[in-house]
Amino acid sequence: MARKSRKLVVVSNRGPYRHEATRGHERWVRAAGGLVTALDPVLQKRGGVWVSAKPAKDFDSVTVPAPHLAYDLGHVSLKRAEQRGFYEGISNAVVWPLLHGFEPTIQVGEAPWSSYVNANQEFADTTLSTSGASDLIWVQDYHLMLVPGMLRAKRPKARIGWFCHIPWPPPDTFGILPWREEILEGLLGADILGFHLPEYAEHFRQCVERFTPYRVSRGAVQHRGRKVKTIAAPIGIPVDDLQALAIDPDVGQEVERIRQTMGNRQLILGVDRLDYTKGIPERLAAFERLLRREKIARTRYALIQVMVPSRTDVKAYADLKEEIDRMVGDINGRYADTGRVPIHYLYRNLSQRALFAHYRAADVALVTPLRDGMNLVAHEYAAARTDEDGVLVLSEFAGAAKHLKGAILVNPYDVESTTNAIHRALTMKSSEKRKRMRSMRGEVMRLDVHRWADGYLAALEGR
Ligand code: UDP
Repeated sequence: MARKSRKLVVVSNRGPYRHEATRGHERWVRAAGGLVTALDPVLQKRGGVWVSAKPAKDFDSVTVPAPHLAYDLGHVSLKRAEQRGFYEGISNAVVWPLLHGFEPTIQVGEAPWSSYVNANQEFADTTLSTSGASDLIWVQDYHLMLVPGMLRAKRPKARIGWFCHIPWPPPDTFGILPWREEILEGLLGADILGFHLPEYAEHFRQCVERFTPYRVSRGAVQHRGRKVKTIAAPIGIPVDDLQALAIDPDVGQEVERIRQTMGNRQLILGVDRLDYTKGIPERLAAFERLLRREKIARTRYALIQVMVPSRTDVKAYADLKEEIDRMVGDINGRYADTGRVPIHYLYRNLSQRALFAHYRAADVALVTPLRDGMNLVAHEYAAARTDEDGVLVLSEFAGAAKHLKGAILVNPYDVESTTNAIHRALTMKSSEKRKRMRSMRGEVMRLDVHRWADGYLAALEGR
């Protein structure tokens, strides 16, 4: 007899859709970011509940109907000041940079730690009220690291998982966090702790050994009479859905339109949330060097940079936006001709359909973060290239570099070598391109998000 699967309850700070109201026009848009790209298709297929923060500033007065979903939504509502301390102050101004290894960027002491504790408690309470004792609870990411412990305190027998969508640094870096013991204790309330790469899981275990009294053996932590497993589970994308999108005839027409609009130049594409971990100024500098070095580059190549607004209330992000605006302006001012600019800069969130048209139109994709847990844009570029054309230039500091061996790997801090890699990608022979793309596409299919979720949930159910 087929086993009935237990109800899945996903808990994350951001939910799948957010509400936008501009100039009186209201609509729901799918949130950009790897977490939503991965978990929405999983819940659409399996059903369940997604608990997240309320997706609109004034949620009660939203008039447009919410998108139709195959799962339920649970909402946590935080007071504005608490939200600011928890999200902007602690999660994004301290925890995010530190777990990415950006030590000098962190701003400890600007926001009270209690805002993080209280917000996590709100998420835990809403999760408890929307789930039953036998449900599988899967907490996501660095915003909610105390939630597993808070759930465990109320439900000693529950099956609780947590997944880290970003890197986990070695103990010397993690140890900078003033609340390191509380965070580890909170996470150890889970049964399974998942990371993209074995090295992140290893760093986590080293942190447990350094900062807690608990014993670690064979990939698990002995925590108060329970065993907490740490696993490496590299995330992927919904390959079938996205490949179908890639070959959609409407998308094909859009590809033609993009190529024509760009004067049939060879196209280089960057797609990122605006974030200092993504290496956008370094990438622009590398492209600028190409324009300076090779005169022909000005008529032959163009860069399209899609940048999704992100964390606009955090100062480091506002400063970065200014720096990028200035760099794009300088480069375009210097190298443009009438009717032809080298950098086309789109500061907004594109739909997946529009994004896939860009992937297919691009001769080269530049995915050059300074540090990234995985990076799904790299996977998506390969998924879109059913024609086995196109070259991926990929940072060795993205988790994806451990898997996508067909990419040209670069150190994004080394601007000159990135310039050389872009040039190599633009001039690569078709046979080599095909060989590299074929190998990447094989790996992207193997890492399919449904396999990732099934594997993780099987571990969580103890199967
Ligand atoms: N994305 C999107 N619209 C855009 C740009 C990006 O929907 O205009 C999506 C993209 O398809 C990808 C995700 O945002 O799935 C970015 O995930 P990634 O892992 O690359 O980076 P993250 O933003 O999570 O750091």
